[in-house]
Amino acid sequence: MKAFVCSIIILSLRKREILLRTHSSSDLTIESIGQTVTLAGWVHRRRDHGGLIFIDLRDRDGLIQVVFDPRVSAGGHGIADTLRNEYVVQVSGEIGRRPSGTENPKLATGQIELAGKSCRVLNTSKTPPFYINEDVEVDESLRLEYRYLDLRRQRMKENIILRHQVMKCLRDYLNARGFLEIETPILIKSTPEGARDFLVPSRLQSGKFYALPQSPQQLKQLLMVAGFEKYYQLARCFRDEDLRADRQPEFTQLDLEMSFVEQEDILILMEDMFTCLVETVKPSMRLLKPFPRLSYDEVMARYGTDKPDVRFGLELRDLTDIAAGSQFGVFRSAVQGDGRVKGICAPGCGSYTRSQLDELIGLAKTYGAKGLVALALISDAEGLAVDKASSAAAKFISPEELRGMANRFGARAGDLLLIVADQALTVDKVLDQLRREMGRRLGLIDPTLLAMVFVVDFPLFDWSEDEKRWNPMHHPFTAPKEGDIPLLDTAPGAVKSWAYDVVCNGYEISSGSIRIHSRDLQEKIFRLLGYSQERIELLFGQLLRALEYGAPPHGGIAPGIDRIVMILAGEETIREVIPFPKNQSGCDLLFDAPSDVSEEQLRELHIIVKKER
Ligand code: ASP
Repeated sequence: MKAFVCSIIILSLRKREILLRTHSSSDLTIESIGQTVTLAGWVHRRRDHGGLIFIDLRDRDGLIQVVFDPRVSAGGHGIADTLRNEYVVQVSGEIGRRPSGTENPKLATGQIELAGKSCRVLNTSKTPPFYINEDVEVDESLRLEYRYLDLRRQRMKENIILRHQVMKCLRDYLNARGFLEIETPILIKSTPEGARDFLVPSRLQSGKFYALPQSPQQLKQLLMVAGFEKYYQLARCFRDEDLRADRQPEFTQLDLEMSFVEQEDILILMEDMFTCLVETVKPSMRLLKPFPRLSYDEVMARYGTDKPDVRFGLELRDLTDIAAGSQFGVFRSAVQGDGRVKGICAPGCGSYTRSQLDELIGLAKTYGAKGLVALALISDAEGLAVDKASSAAAKFISPEELRGMANRFGARAGDLLLIVADQALTVDKVLDQLRREMGRRLGLIDPTLLAMVFVVDFPLFDWSEDEKRWNPMHHPFTAPKEGDIPLLDTAPGAVKSWAYDVVCNGYEISSGSIRIHSRDLQEKIFRLLGYSQERIELLFGQLLRALEYGAPPHGGIAPGIDRIVMILAGEETIREVIPFPKNQSGCDLLFDAPSDVSEEQLRELHIIVKKER
């Protein structure tokens, strides 16, 4: 009986499909010439050429040209005459070869066209608020308000299809390797991971709240305790944080966790998975193989960031020792104030004009520098000198000092040294940005290269000067390196962890770690982070108890899907690869969310809203 019902449904589905269309545009090739077909889609463009009407018919898979000739079908031509952009139409006719000289090599169907016999308008359309058939700049708010129209545009359609391909490829990859896809709750008590929680009020328990997960971190660890060994999930994560750095309040991770693994196992898996991903969805892009592995200390020294873009050089050099004896007050006071003096060398930029230098100084200031010392190198009788015209600092820098600095970079006459003297954090932050800027300006970036690197050996903790306490560098479940465990009591800042990141072209695309699997050590870490025994029990009791019941050694990682798709699509923001993103104020402009709710809803949730003026 069941089979019978099924086949009826399938038959009727097939019948319906034939009613509306026989083919999609991508089914049609030169082989289709002579076939009678029915197509359906949107009017992408319409042109009237003295009697003949041409329609570019668009469906999900592409475009095909339809010609309406009144001599072939007066009726079809008459309807075609009424069509406007974005009308939804059904067209029947015969596929023919385009007249020689009118082929369009840019189009997959550029050799053929449909000679329209009949045309039916399935729906009309108002004039869209922006062009769908042209890749023109449109105000982002308008695009987000009419996202369903924006997504019709070729570039956005390709991005969403790419996103699907990425997710499918990752799923296929992990499914083939024994991972289980397991869902975890969205309404939960969240894992503290450094961001603010989104809260959901409980109707049944007055005054209580669920939190949306910042990530399924504790849940995936509990799945390891439960014995599932290899888990993954394309998980939505929610973090109520500032949206400036191209973040979204909700984003997607390929969350994964494995039991009985060490760091090396995860890194090997990631290198293989990302290689497979790029070969499958972007074979035109190149990877650095094997992925370079750099320690946290090394990337901070060489690039000033733990998200280095290694597609080009321009590496930072530490000049603090040379600057220590300088006559130049800016250098001296930075060194005396326990700061650093570091710089980069921009080859061939010694002839930068005043206004070009001012731009770089402006950039340095935006990132917190008090100033930027720019030394344009020229050659003189003694070898190298600073171009006095371009630098007020020139007269304070002795020839030995200059030689020392130039040597450290291997710099030559014609080069430009950009030097920052400040607290280490500021110096690194500013030089990281300057380096990226100069890499772009000097055209040093190979657009076909995906430079994926592993950053390893992160410190376990990060000292927060504001809060005067340690914060986890990754999250509190990360295991310290065994040899460093004694340092937890004496020098927590020196403890290295089993945390690792995958960085691609200057973006962090995955973070993960080997986890603590013993209750004692986990509790000790919570205490070091300043949690009271009561808070530990409240926030982490479930995990701590689970660790007492045979928790296996485990670890995992969580590649960020949005950022990966963004990089593969060559886009600048993750909003371009998320079907329905929020804007930079966290609003959905299409639905107008967040929005007011009714008094009745608030009452049920036991909530009184205090309106802020
Ligand atoms: N839950 C972590 C995060 O969201 C990733 C991990 O450690 O697996 O960053």
